[in-house]
Amino acid sequence: MTRSKQKPKAFCCECGDPIYANVDPSRDVVCAKCTNKKVNTLIVLEKKMKTDFKDTKDFNEKVGMFDVENKRKHHAGTQLRKIRKAKGFSQKIMALELGCSERHLKRMESGVLPLNKAVLKLFSLQG
Ligand SMILES: [Zn+2]
Repeated sequence: MTRSKQKPKAFCCECGDPIYANVDPSRDVVCAKCTNKKVNTLIVLEKKMKTDFKDTKDFNEKVGMFDVENKRKHHAGTQLRKIRKAKGFSQKIMALELGCSERHLKRMESGVLPLNKAVLKLFSLQG
C-alpha cells in the first residue's frame, strides 16, 4: 500500500494536516511540525521567564502567573495614562514631572516597564 492511498489516522488539531502515524484519534493530536513549533515556543518562554517547566501542570501554573503579572503591570500602566490625561499632560510634560525620559514613560504606560518610584508616589497622592 502506498502512502498516498493510506488513510490518515487523524488530523493535527493545530494546523489540520493529516497524521499517518499510529495515534489515538479520540484524543487531540498534533503533527510533528506543530510539536516542534510548540517545543520552540517553550524554549523561548523558558528563557524569557528564566525558569524551566517540569510538566504541563507546572507549565500552566507558571505561564498563568506570568500572565497575571503582565496584566497587573499593564493595568498599572493604563492607570498612569489615565492620571496623565486627567491632568491634561502630554507624555513629554509628564516625563519631565516624573523626572524620567519620555521613552521610559511610554514604556511604563504600555506595561513594558514597571512603574518607578516617582510614579508610585504619584499614585499614593492620588489614592
Ligand atoms: Zn500541525
